[in-house]
Formats: sequence, C-alpha cells, structure tokens
Amino acid sequence: MTKRPNILIVYTGGTIGMVKDYVTGALKAFDFSQISNKIPELQQLHCTIETISFDEPIDSSNMDVNYYVEIAEIIAENYTKFDGFVVLTGSDTMSYISSAISFMFENLQKPVIFTGSQLPIGDLRTDAKENLITSIQIAAAQENDEPVIQEVGLYFEYKLYRANRTTKISAEQFEAFSSMNYPPLVESGVHLNFNYPILLRSQNKEENLIFRKKLDNNIAVLKLFPGITEKVVKSYLNIEGLKGIILETYGAGNAPTKKWFLDILEAFVKKDIYVVNVTQCAGGSVILGHYETSSSLKHIGIIDGKDITTETAVAKMMYLLGENLAKEEFRNYFESPLRGEINE
Ligand code: ASP
Repeated sequence: MTKRPNILIVYTGGTIGMVKDYVTGALKAFDFSQISNKIPELQQLHCTIETISFDEPIDSSNMDVNYYVEIAEIIAENYTKFDGFVVLTGSDTMSYISSAISFMFENLQKPVIFTGSQLPIGDLRTDAKENLITSIQIAAAQENDEPVIQEVGLYFEYKLYRANRTTKISAEQFEAFSSMNYPPLVESGVHLNFNYPILLRSQNKEENLIFRKKLDNNIAVLKLFPGITEKVVKSYLNIEGLKGIILETYGAGNAPTKKWFLDILEAFVKKDIYVVNVTQCAGGSVILGHYETSSSLKHIGIIDGKDITTETAVAKMMYLLGENLAKEEFRNYFESPLRGEINE
C-alpha cells in the first residue's frame, strides 16, 4: 500500500458548511473540525485529513481580495506539509475566487480543489457529501509518487473543471457550473476518469512554488447593451484611480462603431487605463478584427481577451495590475495563457 496523502480542507463559508436545526428549521454553521464524525464515509478514503476554518464563515458575496490572500496564505504556509488542498467556499463567487488563486500561485505542483454545494451538508438531499468526498479523492489521487492534478480546479456535480475556465450558471441545479471553452479535467462515474492529455503541468518542475499576493482591484466591468448611452460609458472616465476595464462586448468581440463610443475608448487608452475585450457569450472567443465592428477596437489598442471568461478576466486584471508591468508586457501577458485560462 502506498503512503497515505495528507489533505488539508480549508473551510471559508458558504452553504456547504451549514446544517439544519430540525427543531427551529434555521441553517447554522457546522464545525468542520468534527467533519470525520459527521461524515464517517471519509474514513474509507486512502488519505489523512486535517481542517482549517475561517473564524467566521463568510458568504462568498462578501469575499474580496483580502479573503483571497487569506486563503492563498493558508495554502502557501501548508504547501510542503500537505499533498493536496480542498477549499470550501460559497458557490456564488467561487469562479472569481478560484481564478484569482490560480494566478497567485506560479509553478503549482499540487492540487487545489475548490468545491461547495447548492444544499447544506446537513440537508437530506444534499449535494455536499458527493462534492466533498470526490474532491478529497481527486486531491489525494497520486501516480508515480506525484499528484495527478497539479493545478487549481473546481469540482461540482461529477466534474472537475479548470477553475479559471468556469462560470456559475445555475442557482437551482446541482450542476451549478459550466466550462464552455475547456473540457472537464476529471469526470466522476463508476471510476474517476482523468483527462490526462489536458492536465496542466509546471514547466519548471525543479523550482519551488512562487506566491504572489499583490492584487489591485482598481478595475471595473463595463457590459455593453444595445442602447447604452454616452453618459454611462463616459462616467467611467471619472472613476478616480481606475486602472483597468473589462469591456463585455457582443459575439466575437463586436461593439458599436459610433464615433462617441470609439472616442471614449481612445480616451481610456490615453489615460493609461487598460481595456480588455471579453465576449458576453457563454462560449467562444473574441476574434479582434474579424468584423468591421471590432477592427476599430484593435486599432485603438484594446487588449484581446480571446476566450477568457469575465470572472477570469477580473482575476487576471487584478493580478497583472499588482505586478506593475510595463504597458506592452501587460498586454503580452494578458493575451497569453499563464495558467491555462485561454487557448494559445
Ligand atoms: N450564498 C452562498 C455563497 O456563495 C451560496 C453557496 O454557498 O452556494 O456563499
């Protein structure tokens, strides 16, 4: 029998950590240090499990960059002691949180699996147990003495996705996430089926984990809609300290060709505000210059978000702004895959 991997569960909050008080009907936080008593099935897993919980469980809608740093610090401090990590957060902003963590760790060579649930762990019909048990199993999976997954993943309803490819798509279905532009890394059926050829591997195996924790959230998301007015777009010019805008465009990256609109975009670029073109479509990619309606964006100097999700564009923007890069470097990094978040 091979050595038992050590898995650290980091509980931050969200529905998964709730149990129902069957007398009052109220949901209350669950003590994660007692997890093995509550879910005896965990003892059947071939790994040892330790847990760390936030002092106060937090709804993921209240998570901000300081919490991202807190989660990443827990992982960094325990990186050598554990073989894999399972991070439990609320599902509402899980794609944003896990994408940010994927950028904060360069040269990651261990699994960091995010999961949560739609129903509390104490609910009779809960999806929490399956999500948690399989996430731990995936985090503990080893081959040739190394973890099979060596990146940040998001597990929900029988699928492990690359975290920075995901979007929350349902507040109702157990299948709460999708990854339209990248296939699942693992599918859980009778067996765990790892999709080996698409798993991320560090290029510098000899090097240690690099942890970068400067995230700059002086950014905004501007979603276009037919009829958007000049004064709305212009108002972004007055945001003090704004350094970057995620511009959600139509289809393959198309936007109005009206003069006032293009003038304002030029004004952003002149003010050294980075503007990244991201499609509003759930799947597919920006193709700058494919239609006339995106050619002008290319000439103005808008950055090509390619097939990135909005969630990941937000995370990548915060991360790259924190790195204080020169303008061209910023563009090159944004337009290149750093953690498998966009296609080449
Ligand atoms: N509101 C919860 C949260 O995101 C929902 C969940 O846990 O799924 O924290």
